[in-house]
Amino acid sequence: LPLHETTPRHNDDRLLGGLLVDGFDEESCHSRYQSAMYRRNPGRRPSPYLVSKLRRHEALQRRCGPGTAAYTTAIDQLRSGNNKSATSLECRYIVSLPYQGLGNRILAAASAFLYALLTERVLLIDPSHGMNALFCEPFLGATWMLPSGFPLQGYASFTNDTAETYGNMLRNKVIGAATQQMPAFAYVYLHSEASADDKSFFWDEDHGLLRRIQWLVMRTDNYIVPGLFLAGAFRVELDKMFPEPDAIFHHISRYLFHPNNHVWGLVTRYYDAYLADAAELVGIQVRVFGAQPNSPELLEQITKCTQNHGRLLPELLAAGTEPGTPESRRRKAKKAVLVTSLKSWYHEKLKGMYWEHAASNGERVGVHQPSHEEYQRFGVVSHDAKAWAEMYLLSLSDALVTTSQSTFGYVAQGLGGLRPWVMYRPDYDVTTVPDPPCGRAVSMEPCFFAAPNYNLWEKQWFDASTVVPHAQSCADFPWGGLMLV
Ligand code: GDP
Repeated sequence: LPLHETTPRHNDDRLLGGLLVDGFDEESCHSRYQSAMYRRNPGRRPSPYLVSKLRRHEALQRRCGPGTAAYTTAIDQLRSGNNKSATSLECRYIVSLPYQGLGNRILAAASAFLYALLTERVLLIDPSHGMNALFCEPFLGATWMLPSGFPLQGYASFTNDTAETYGNMLRNKVIGAATQQMPAFAYVYLHSEASADDKSFFWDEDHGLLRRIQWLVMRTDNYIVPGLFLAGAFRVELDKMFPEPDAIFHHISRYLFHPNNHVWGLVTRYYDAYLADAAELVGIQVRVFGAQPNSPELLEQITKCTQNHGRLLPELLAAGTEPGTPESRRRKAKKAVLVTSLKSWYHEKLKGMYWEHAASNGERVGVHQPSHEEYQRFGVVSHDAKAWAEMYLLSLSDALVTTSQSTFGYVAQGLGGLRPWVMYRPDYDVTTVPDPPCGRAVSMEPCFFAAPNYNLWEKQWFDASTVVPHAQSCADFPWGGLMLV
């Protein structure tokens, strides 16, 4: 067991205040019941209303999900292309197509889930981008994976040009308020470059139409949740579910994403071997790209941020200075630094600094990095498993430093309930170190990079950061980004 199992910081509420439901086979998913023992920060408590919503949702997944008669009927209706009238739709579905990097995929699945909760739709995740190889099932007695044999041909590769996107059907007047016979399905395209028609998804008018369609297939690489507050009906419900709007992803991610036993082994073996006995754990996420050369400026940004600005790591003494006696030194606190990156250079440099110099406060600093994969890879399970394990390890930190605009960092901060220090990226100019090197995020929520800015129903441009309650423009993505605080 990790050391802090026995310390007062240990959070023994393994069901996270009712967020999780008991009754799963513990052997099938160790992380579900063990994660609370590894968290230094117990996190926020879910509202009783959210807990009751989740229990109702689990019942819906059991009643309408794959393997039920209702599911077979709904698939038959989809295959035959006929949509029953809205009132007789007992079971509705949303198929989520997460794609791109793992951070993007996790945010997309979380967004689809919250939409499913709000609209009482069964959530099914398309397994084709490796989503079936990383997580445990979140719903007791039901599956969240889309079974094979889904009848929509080529569904996983639709684009904004596909005729059946909700935006195109709206523009081409295939559907509208007066439509009697709704189609059996619609694609919802909310990728970053989605058009204004595609992004007509967020208003009460849209939800009125969409709820009459039994099957939705949603593709996004974004955290669309801040946009869901634009609909009045959803806003009321969201306010009840989440009295703390800055903790939405925190609760959803802890509810939905449990590392499977393979990934949990990666997390716990690493934590127990390198991190468990540290008095303090500082996570540093260095998001670099495969082709980028090692950057001394970025290294300087990391050290300035952690040593001077955020005061997360001690400053260094001149080489040759070694304060204290062996006994007094051993009594000093041990600090572990967990670096994650595609490259090993930053970690090696940091590690070297704390070997070649003593820390000014005498702390013992160990610097660790689980993997350096060099390049982002697609469709490789072992690569994704490491990425997922590292996001999770970062989330176990006491303090976190992330790279701006990175969904990888967003997942770690949300799971951990941490407001990170964010290292801003210099605009195109990599030869200067940003000043200040980092800033403390105002919220642990991810940024919605492509928030809607045009209301098709009222034919009006608007600034979502001034319209959506509890939201503001993202400090790390001010060009139309939206973040709940
Ligand atoms: P984003 O691109 O920063 O928003 O994050 P994503 O997670 O969506 O995509 C980046 C992908 O690159 C990850 O999913 C990994 O596949 C890989 N990657 C980037 N940084 C790291 C890292 O620190 N560790 C590991 N193991 N993989 C990384």
